[in-house]
Amino acid sequence: MKLQLLDLKAQYETIKEEIKEAVINTIESGHYILGPQVKKLEEDIAKYCGVKHGIGVANGTDALVLTLKAFGIGEGDEVITTPFTFFASAETVSQVGATPVFVDVRPDTYCIDADKIEEKITSRTKAIIAVHIFGQMCDMDKIMDIANRHKLIVIEDACQAIGAEYKGKKAGSIGHAACFSFFPTKNLGGYGDGGMVVTNDDEIAQKIRMLRFHGSKIKYYHDMIGYNSRLDEIQAAILNVKFKYIDEWNNARKEKAHVYNELLRGTKCVTPYEDSKCKHIYHLYILQHENREELLKYLNENGVATGIYYPVPLHLQNVYKNLGYNEGDLPVSEMLSKRTFAIPLYPEITFDQQKYVADLIKKFDNN
Ligand SMILES: *Cc1c(COP(=O)(O)O)cnc(C)c1O
Repeated sequence: MKLQLLDLKAQYETIKEEIKEAVINTIESGHYILGPQVKKLEEDIAKYCGVKHGIGVANGTDALVLTLKAFGIGEGDEVITTPFTFFASAETVSQVGATPVFVDVRPDTYCIDADKIEEKITSRTKAIIAVHIFGQMCDMDKIMDIANRHKLIVIEDACQAIGAEYKGKKAGSIGHAACFSFFPTKNLGGYGDGGMVVTNDDEIAQKIRMLRFHGSKIKYYHDMIGYNSRLDEIQAAILNVKFKYIDEWNNARKEKAHVYNELLRGTKCVTPYEDSKCKHIYHLYILQHENREELLKYLNENGVATGIYYPVPLHLQNVYKNLGYNEGDLPVSEMLSKRTFAIPLYPEITFDQQKYVADLIKKFDNN
């Protein structure tokens, strides 16, 4: 048996005709930039999240950059986030000229440890980027409370968490703004790059609309230095088709994650923890194992693809040497980076495929 981490072709097979029609219709419509497909997706995702505005942008990274810019974050400012995430969560802070300040994650949810945020707040701190890692939301009550007391902006990095919930509220609806990615492997993925910012703040929404379009409200009249960062109309047409299935797909991921939990009972793997306040949408199914490298080698040799998320915590990345962190500073993230990995999970995976993976892990543990 051969298993990919994610089988995008299997998903395409289930929606092929709709996708072809949507793409061809868009090409034939003659609207290629910020047309009706982008507008529809913006409205539908804003409504889904329960917020006023959705602004389609070129990718999730730009969603973060434009949001930081819109809130006026830049040179001299500090932004708190975690080191156990995709690089863009911190890279974007650096891109706007601010400094990322890393707070360790919780050993169970892998999200920011809210109890460790306040000790890192200084007079320069402007924002917290709360990363809903692997599809489970951060402890938003605690984060919003800290932010309110210290007058900080909260940006949800919801790139891995569209449809996830915290106390019944959707990812993207709690912070001052939130960022989504439609990178092909995300739970709502296009066939190329894409992203979106959602917010209830009229002024921020307006600024992001301008920033994505060369700082312009009216074509050829420029009020600020902006970017060319728009969600592509053809990608939006594809995403409008896929968005109809997002709950179905997220629920299937969750069910299949629970199947793995059962199958892996009694192995040496630490299975994912679900916070009872949250709906986890399993962007990735992440395990911990004390002998990760050998186990992954064994799985790969037997046709099972795996992924390491994330092998180097951001505070120990070469590019951030200047920030002055040392090994041991953020021990939970460092421990996780040595132990965590993903096994194949997607809505279309079959029980037999999951059993094959689990049986291999059992065999490995018993040898
Ligand atoms: C994917 C991702 C991003 C960046 O999104 P792109 O669309 O690839 O630019 C940012 N943050 C997190 C947590 C992500 O997983």
